[in-house]
Amino acid sequence: MKADFFIVGGGLAGSVLAWVLQQRGSRVLVFDAEPPMSCSRLAAGIINPVTGKRLVKSWRFEEFLAFAKNTYRQMERDLQVDLFQPHRIFRAFPPASSAEGESMNLRNQWSMRLGDEAYAHLLAPIQSEPPEPGLFRAAPAYGCIRGAARLDIPRLLDAVRKCTPFVRENFDYGALQIRAEGVSYKEHSASAVVFCEGYAMRENPWFGHLPLNPAKGHVLHLQMESGMYEQRYMYKDELYFVPLDTETVWCGSDYVWDFVDEQPQPERVKALRTRAESIWRKPYKTKGVFAAVRPTVKDRRPLLGRHPEQERLYILNGLGTKGSSLAPWCATQMADLLLSGKAVDREVDIRRFGY
Ligand SMILES: Cc1cc2nc3c(=O)[nH]c(=O)nc-3n(C[C@H](O)[C@H](O)[C@H](O)COP(=O)(O)OP(=O)(O)OC[C@H]3O[C@@H](n4cnc5c(N)ncnc54)[C@H](O)[C@@H]3O)c2cc1C
Repeated sequence: MKADFFIVGGGLAGSVLAWVLQQRGSRVLVFDAEPPMSCSRLAAGIINPVTGKRLVKSWRFEEFLAFAKNTYRQMERDLQVDLFQPHRIFRAFPPASSAEGESMNLRNQWSMRLGDEAYAHLLAPIQSEPPEPGLFRAAPAYGCIRGAARLDIPRLLDAVRKCTPFVRENFDYGALQIRAEGVSYKEHSASAVVFCEGYAMRENPWFGHLPLNPAKGHVLHLQMESGMYEQRYMYKDELYFVPLDTETVWCGSDYVWDFVDEQPQPERVKALRTRAESIWRKPYKTKGVFAAVRPTVKDRRPLLGRHPEQERLYILNGLGTKGSSLAPWCATQMADLLLSGKAVDREVDIRRFGY
């Protein structure tokens, strides 16, 4: 096929980029080996405006969320699927006995944020009642985060795949021919390649030395009686509990920095199960146990740009733990660079690493 751009990797980054470029009239060809599990397929798609013990807003959150919402709504109309859903997140406060007075700290922090006009619209007043009685272990108090959302990433990948030229194979770097006028790969040609390989970027001969700091995560899919868990909120108490459908709850995750492969590690799965069982109070069966690796970067910012010597080679990666909110903005930055040569935002440009 004669394309304008090859995209290597059909995860969230590559799929949103493929859609954005096709909307602008470009012909793309996506390569993906489609392993049984990937980071994008495993992610819960949570978009949480305030995170951590200090309830800090995520980096440039308002800007990225508005951009993401607008893009996902356009994708929904174009692809005829539901992808993006506004949500609430209930956070259980830690028990009073927890380390270093964590419960009191969170309570104080929550009250302080409620009085801050930059945060007040995102948080509801602290409450003593759980969102649903008897579903989770009791906590001293609960806080509801408003303005959260969830993206159905697997559905997005499948929908983009249906309308995008696609080659199911592991891209062989050695078979890529790079010339001044363009690139070719086997029987295909294009003007440039964008590598969107997630954690597999470490093997890439042109971009592999960028400072990725990958974090593996384990997830359980819990199966329960239909309708047991209301579909309208996500729950966080050490772990996230996210209803995927009327019978399945996503439960995770952990951060493993030292690992040898992407497979679930028995000791990590056991630890996750123990934590899940201490929080979830109703009968369930384990429907699935999964692991995948997040493409996190040392400075926690995405990786975008053009190779300094090979002008036909580009990268879009490093979406880290927040792909759902970052992907549309990053894909648009990349499309602007590819189509009009507009420099990408300095905070995400790979030139920050001396490239
Ligand atoms: C447990 C877990 C929970 C998460 N939860 C959330 C969440 O709630 N909210 C959120 O926003 N983010 C979450 N994330 C992060 C999110 O998944 C990522 O930010 C995002 O999916 C990264 O997308 P990507 O396309 O860059 O990478 P990937 O999803 O890893 O996609 C890369 C693709 O490239 C393909 N590929 C790589 N090399 C080659 C090659 N040589 N040839 C062909 N194909 C290749 C791979 O097969 C893969 O399909 C979570 C991640 C994990 C692991």
